Order: sequence, then C-alpha cells, then structure tokens
Amino acid sequence: MLYIGSHVGYNKNSGLLGSVEEALSYDANTFMFYTGAPQNTIRFSIDKNLKEKGLSLMKEHGMILDKVIVHAPYIINLANPDPEKHQFAISFLKQEVKRCEELGINKMVLHPGSHVGSGIDAGIESIIDGLNEVMKDNHSVCILLETMAGKGSEVGSNFNEIKKIIDGVGNKELIGVCLDTCHLHDAGYDISEFDKLLDEFDEIIGLSYVKCVHINDSKNICGAKKDRHENLGKGYIGLDNLLKVIYNKRLDGISMILETPYINDLPPYKEEIKLIRDNAR
Ligand code: FE
Ligand code: FE
Ligand code: ZN
Repeated sequence: MLYIGSHVGYNKNSGLLGSVEEALSYDANTFMFYTGAPQNTIRFSIDKNLKEKGLSLMKEHGMILDKVIVHAPYIINLANPDPEKHQFAISFLKQEVKRCEELGINKMVLHPGSHVGSGIDAGIESIIDGLNEVMKDNHSVCILLETMAGKGSEVGSNFNEIKKIIDGVGNKELIGVCLDTCHLHDAGYDISEFDKLLDEFDEIIGLSYVKCVHINDSKNICGAKKDRHENLGKGYIGLDNLLKVIYNKRLDGISMILETPYINDLPPYKEEIKLIRDNAR
C-alpha cells in the first residue's frame, strides 16, 4: 500500500487538526510536520482537544498515526563540538521526543548533524553520545537519521557514516533511517539505479532500518552536494526515477513524504500527489 503525503504546517491555533486538514486537502494519506518553527526554540504546548479532533478526522479518512512523521528542528546539531551547544542539542531533542510522545507519533526524522570543523569521526562520536543520552529517557519514538547531501560539514551523506552511528547506538529499536532522494542524488548516489542503491544500503545498514522516504527532485547534478529541492520531474532526478522509488516493492508501506518547493507561494502537493497516483505502477 502506498502512503504518500507531504510536509504540512502545524500551528498553535489549529494544532494536529490543522495538519490533518491540510494533508486531506492534498489527497494525502500521511504527512510530516515540525512541532514548531524549525529554526528556533519557541514551542507551544500541545492542545489535547485539537489533537483528539485531528485523530478522529484521521480515523474517518483511514489515516494511520503510525505512518505520520515529525521532523526534528534543524537547529539541533548533535555533532557540534562545542560542549554547550552539544548539550543544548541533547536537551532540545529530548523535549521534541516528548512532544512526539504526547501526540502519539512514533517516528521522528533527524539530520545527523554538522561537525563544523572537528572532522567526520569526531562528529560521529558526538552524534552517538547525544543519541544514547536522549535514549536514556526510554522513550517510544524511533529517531530516523536522514541521509544528507554532504553540504558543508554535514555528517551522514553516505551509508557508511550512517552505519557507524547506528552501530554506536545502544537501543537499536529506537534508531532508523530516512532516505531523501534529493540528498542521496546530491551526495553522489545514482537514483536511476535505485535497486542497486537499495542493495548497497541493505548490505551496509539493512533495509529494515528504512522507516521514511523523502521524495524530492534536485536542482543540481548528481554529486553536487548542494541540497536544493526541486518539484517532481523538473530537476536532475526526473519523474520516472522518482516513481521507481515511490513504487519500489521493497519500500512498500513506508511513508513517502514530498518536500518539494512551493510554486508562486502555493503548495504543489495536491498536483504532485495526483501525478504520482496517476502514474501508479
Ligand atoms: Fe530533512
Ligand atoms: Fe528531507
Ligand atoms: Zn534537503
């Protein structure tokens, strides 16, 4: 079964209900959101009433909470070598995990982090330390490491780095991976050979760790390390290659989330989801 959706908003006035309504307006059957602005630490408490209303609207439309994803704010950088900033990242990630639990969401995508000059190995150690610290709380949320484009000093732009992080995490139940097609392509992986890519992933990490896929075309050529998302079929990956990812049998049942850019200030998701459904294979 195809679970397709997009990034949606989540705000104080409409809470989870607003996110569900937005997803339904795109004919999506899943969605992803930030629990607050990704670039700051301002958070409002979860409105239980809006949560309940959102959950019943989901039920009415056959949506499953297990397929819904939260994206951790990108200000969280567990790889930061500055001890204070590393500690801040840990405590903020702990709070985000609690917020997911309050909402009943069990999957949160996290950018592994940027080592900002300390080097890949130190970055990986720092991420492992941070994740193990967060997981001491014994939470119920699986943290999905997103594959990165390799921009700047980003950690996690190849499967070996992700594998090293997973190896260092004590509780394997709480760790997974989110594949991002734009990031993979920008990092140098060939999406047109997606089955080969999955073979490599399976060999190094194990396919069972994949719990979410971000579907984006890319504004740049393979290996550019830029991380600039493009609308489906308008970039260097192309619609056909993205459809091969979306309808890949080995990823059946995994949430596919669009993070493509708005067009003229309007979300493209309804049209892109229709395009995907019209090209079912
Ligand atoms: Fe991301
Ligand atoms: Fe992404
Ligand atoms: Zn990106």
